[in-house]
Amino acid sequence: MEWLWLVGFVVVAGGIGLIAGSGTGGSREELRARGRWDQAFEIESRRIRQTDATGVLRCRSCGANGSERAGRCPRCGAIL
Ligand SMILES: [Zn+2]
Repeated sequence: MEWLWLVGFVVVAGGIGLIAGSGTGGSREELRARGRWDQAFEIESRRIRQTDATGVLRCRSCGANGSERAGRCPRCGAIL
């Protein structure tokens, strides 16, 4: 029955490792930093989409963005 003790020890050690890993301030700070990075990336990608007119045209009637290939506004159907 020695293997049972070994399995029990591994499970307990793994549980302690999980609790310690999720409870540290470092990982929380890392998560926050990742969130900041995601936000910055989103703002940046939005800025690029607005300035880069290739493929996307803004409808003059309703202001919605429609694809240049379709040639028509997806919201109101006006010719872009
Ligand atoms: Zn429109």
